Amino acid sequence: MDQVYDKIYVGGFEDVKDEESMSDAKITHVLSLLDRPLPPEIQNKYKCKFIRVLDMPDENLLTYFPECLRFIDEARVNGAVIVHCLVGCSRSATVVIAWLMQKKQLDVKTALNMVKDCRPCIRPNTGFQFQLELFARMAYDINVNNSDYKTFKLNMFGLKLGEGKIFNNDVKNLLVASPTENHPKTEVLYKCKKCRHPLFRESSLLSHTTGDWERSFDWNSKLSNLRKSDSEKNKVTCKESLFVEPVQWMADVVTNQSGKLTCPKCLAKIGSFIWCGEKCPCGSWVAPAFHIQKNKVDLCRPFVLVPRVLPNNQFMQETVATSCS
Ligand SMILES: [Zn+2]
Ligand SMILES: [Zn+2]
Repeated sequence: MDQVYDKIYVGGFEDVKDEESMSDAKITHVLSLLDRPLPPEIQNKYKCKFIRVLDMPDENLLTYFPECLRFIDEARVNGAVIVHCLVGCSRSATVVIAWLMQKKQLDVKTALNMVKDCRPCIRPNTGFQFQLELFARMAYDINVNNSDYKTFKLNMFGLKLGEGKIFNNDVKNLLVASPTENHPKTEVLYKCKKCRHPLFRESSLLSHTTGDWERSFDWNSKLSNLRKSDSEKNKVTCKESLFVEPVQWMADVVTNQSGKLTCPKCLAKIGSFIWCGEKCPCGSWVAPAFHIQKNKVDLCRPFVLVPRVLPNNQFMQETVATSCS
């Protein structure tokens, strides 16, 4: 094992079994990132936390960052922690890099190099590197409303779906609640043009930048796109098409690889979806693509109070209903 920061060690499975080095390092806490929990005889000696994760680019480690980082903080109060995976190169390093990024407000590269200086063998896989970049973009926390994070989670789901590894609970967690007929008056909604049924909130729209063509699912190109869009401050968000996150009323079809999207009330066809993605007319590859046809829906804004200047220069609040466009 290698000490990478005060009271933080990184290592492999063999290191955790080595009682002497564990005791020399005064380890009190063990964070395991493995495919199975540690044997009970080790678990009984330390305060342990186990995250089931494989060293694969399409494994979601990001979602567990907050609880892992809290565990490391807890350990450092009165003890020391070893963060370990099988060999101590990818999974464990990723979590410690995330911790350093958060504590010191560092970018991925700087934090990675700090860990590498102490443990030269570390090498987070490309999927984990992508997740670290995304973590930095979300200001070192999980923001469930972040469009990039939503797209990341949908991509993870799409990959699992392709491998036939989807369970009922996964689908439940994936879908956002449908807006209801008596939705709060402040919500901006898209409604079916034909029957006026509320279909999805404006916040469900997933944005993409125009023209950054990316055909295949590849973490390397995703990573470079994420970095590129970071540096290009004048990136243009595509306005040509509506892509949304899957909504509850799509539950019956969403586990197919592709299909039609119809209004749950009047059954009018309003769009289509394909998990592996499609090309937007702007030139960008959008994956997954839950594509709503613009001419089948109306954007409905709530009633708003608009200040109006009266002829005698006095202001008055006037209620104005903005109609559906
Ligand atoms: Zn309808
Ligand atoms: Zn587009």
